[in-house]
Amino acid sequence: MQTVNDGFTRPQPQPGWIEVIVGCMFSGKTEELIKQVRRAHFAKQKVQTFKPRIDSRYHEKDVASHNQTRTEAIPVADADDIERLLEPSTVVVAIDEGQFFGDNIVDVATRLAEQGRRVIIAGLDTDWRARPFGPMPQLMAVAEVVRKQHAICRVCGGPASRTQRLISAVEDIVVGSTEAYEARCRRHFDPELGARRLTERTEPLSLSEL
Ligand SMILES: [Zn+2]
Repeated sequence: MQTVNDGFTRPQPQPGWIEVIVGCMFSGKTEELIKQVRRAHFAKQKVQTFKPRIDSRYHEKDVASHNQTRTEAIPVADADDIERLLEPSTVVVAIDEGQFFGDNIVDVATRLAEQGRRVIIAGLDTDWRARPFGPMPQLMAVAEVVRKQHAICRVCGGPASRTQRLISAVEDIVVGSTEAYEARCRRHFDPELGARRLTERTEPLSLSEL
């Protein structure tokens, strides 16, 4: 390529970057992810969307928000599968339910961004105990852009940042049953609620509650 030293900066190829969309349940994370994917489609950018295989609710190949907006996604067992399945022409890599990936998602996202790709990851920032969830804190640290979304507290109507579990907890991962959760603000969030429900019960939990 011919170089001309005229003192002006030349346009550079687009650098990659990492965007993280976080918040509690019902804060519109997946809708925001889908919105960004749609915008990239309009711009004729090749997008690939991934999600962890553990999330089997709704349609297996879709990223579905609770209001049934959806976009096609590839279920993967591990973050390494994202790199394995990535097509060379992909410009935007969208990842939903980021909290369920292992810590290697941080290295994968970093490599994809360094290759010049835009990586968008949506996920819960905290679990039902309000503790940082999986790799999301590390992803927030290395991301160029962090969108923190809020839901509406079911008790007071204020901005909600916590996911309140309403049923007893046996495992950390309870996927899909929106009736088991509601959004709460810091004041109305009760991390002991799930544990209390567990001790109050005399009959064993049914599978549908897990
Ligand atoms: Zn509240």
